[in-house]
Amino acid sequence: MQNVISDKPIYVTQPHLPPLEEFIPYLESIWHSKLLTNKGPFHQEFEHALCDYLGVEHLTLFANGTLALVTAMQALRISGEVITTPYSFVATAHALLWNGIKPVFVDIDPKTLNLDPAKIEAAITPETKAILPVHCYGNPCDVEDIQTIANNYNLKVIYDAAHAFGVQISNRSILKHGDLSVLSFHATKVFNTFEGGAIVCPDAKTKQHIDNLKNFGFVDETTVVATGINGKMSEFGAALGLLQLKHIDQALARRREIDRLYRTRLANVPSINCVERGGQTRDNHAYFPILVRPEYPLSRDALYSCLREHGIYGRRYFFPLISDFPMYRGLQSANRANLPVAASIAEQVICLPIYPNLVESDQSQICDFIAAAHEENVVIDNRKQNLKC
Ligand SMILES: *Cc1c(COP(=O)(O)O)cnc(C)c1O
Repeated sequence: MQNVISDKPIYVTQPHLPPLEEFIPYLESIWHSKLLTNKGPFHQEFEHALCDYLGVEHLTLFANGTLALVTAMQALRISGEVITTPYSFVATAHALLWNGIKPVFVDIDPKTLNLDPAKIEAAITPETKAILPVHCYGNPCDVEDIQTIANNYNLKVIYDAAHAFGVQISNRSILKHGDLSVLSFHATKVFNTFEGGAIVCPDAKTKQHIDNLKNFGFVDETTVVATGINGKMSEFGAALGLLQLKHIDQALARRREIDRLYRTRLANVPSINCVERGGQTRDNHAYFPILVRPEYPLSRDALYSCLREHGIYGRRYFFPLISDFPMYRGLQSANRANLPVAASIAEQVICLPIYPNLVESDQSQICDFIAAAHEENVVIDNRKQNLKC
């Protein structure tokens, strides 16, 4: 195979930042006002601007997505059991354990890689209070079927929409589905405020309740109505968010081009499958997952290691499954026999680098590299693990 692709490492993502000089006036304003947090002017402005951009009515900003998930469960007073996916970032299920809720893992659909609605009903017990699906990679869950099940069994639906910033289905924000949706603005996400997150909710009353919960449960100077937490976004995060909004469309357009080039170039490698987009009318191209099929001359892990040796740091999102981590392993629903699709996908997936500043020649060489291993296929299956790159 060919030699080093790039003299600089290429990571799976690179935080998208505006030009520094554009951020300085915001900092000057913060220094001048001395308002650093607690619903300062940037926080207020950013909440409104985000609602406008995303096409939602109400949202409340958070210090990060995990605190937003934990608070979403509190806001709806969820207890007992919650049905969720094992194929996600670990924070999804951790938010349940932090609330003393028992996660019940249900397998994913082999095409969407999201919670399989056909398998949800069998997991419902008298203790089930909610469903926590994830729009994995920004691909929409089957929101209609999930809502039908929720209605039939009187369950709440909280979407972990950490990957789904700006995604629309039927020309409408995906964040409008379910009772609540939770966003993350972590540095590695499509849209970042250094760290940050938000809960999208349908009405002003719920927003007020969540606003209280993220500020220790205070409703006024001397009244505390709930065991709230400190989940507030600072003025620095909110100011960056306002500025990021000015650049996000350009960033998304660049991601679209990268996505298209990968799909075109990898179409000729039959043993590599690009995960299909999910029919969304507006996409964010948050990740570029490929599945390394058994016919590929290298195992998934061998390809992953080869890429690393050549300076390309893909990530195995999501491997291991959440249900394989020690705090979940003992659950009955964590049994691999219950999760055959998720277990199989977790063994095949690599997310390739995708971010607005990814240079086209680097991307092109990543594709060449993956195709070259396929072309030079002289290795039989049982020797795969030993193949050197
Ligand atoms: C990133 C992420 C989170 C956590 O968000 P943070 O802002 O990093 O706390 C939760 N769920 C999923 C699916 C994520 O990818």
